[in-house]
Amino acid sequence: MTISEIAGTLLEEHFPETYHNELLDKVGLNVGIRTYRKRDFAFRKKYLRLMKNAVQCVFKSKINDSLVGVEAAHIKWHQAYGPDTEENGLALCSLHHKLFDKGIFTVRADRMIEVSEKASRMGPYKELMTDFNQDYIRRPSLDLFLPDAGFTEWHVREVYKGY
Ligand SMILES: [Zn+2]
Repeated sequence: MTISEIAGTLLEEHFPETYHNELLDKVGLNVGIRTYRKRDFAFRKKYLRLMKNAVQCVFKSKINDSLVGVEAAHIKWHQAYGPDTEENGLALCSLHHKLFDKGIFTVRADRMIEVSEKASRMGPYKELMTDFNQDYIRRPSLDLFLPDAGFTEWHVREVYKGY
């Protein structure tokens, strides 16, 4: 096994993809290691097809009828045994996916968005983040697809940097 393969495996097992580049940079290993898995693409495709009326972000772009820059975020990380199911997902733009994985905001069990006070605010932070504080997420076409409280509670407890 090469160092690249070991680093890739460690990242895949312990961190969501939104952390990978930054962690590789920190240890000086960001030399084209690809950690994307086929599983993530399959989940994104299935999830976004179901959620097209409930993309949480204002940013939406399409090319050739497929969404660009919109991702299927796991609420409970795959690395923490969160499943690839609708009730463990949120359709977010790339930016909000990263902010969600970093715990800059969370979604409570009653599906209210809560934004951390801890992040420093620069640029259009208010429009992109603070203004959503205490809004409710968009409802998907079926309540069956709403985030499950067990997963959102995990995110509040393990990821959110609220307090
Ligand atoms: Zn967004």
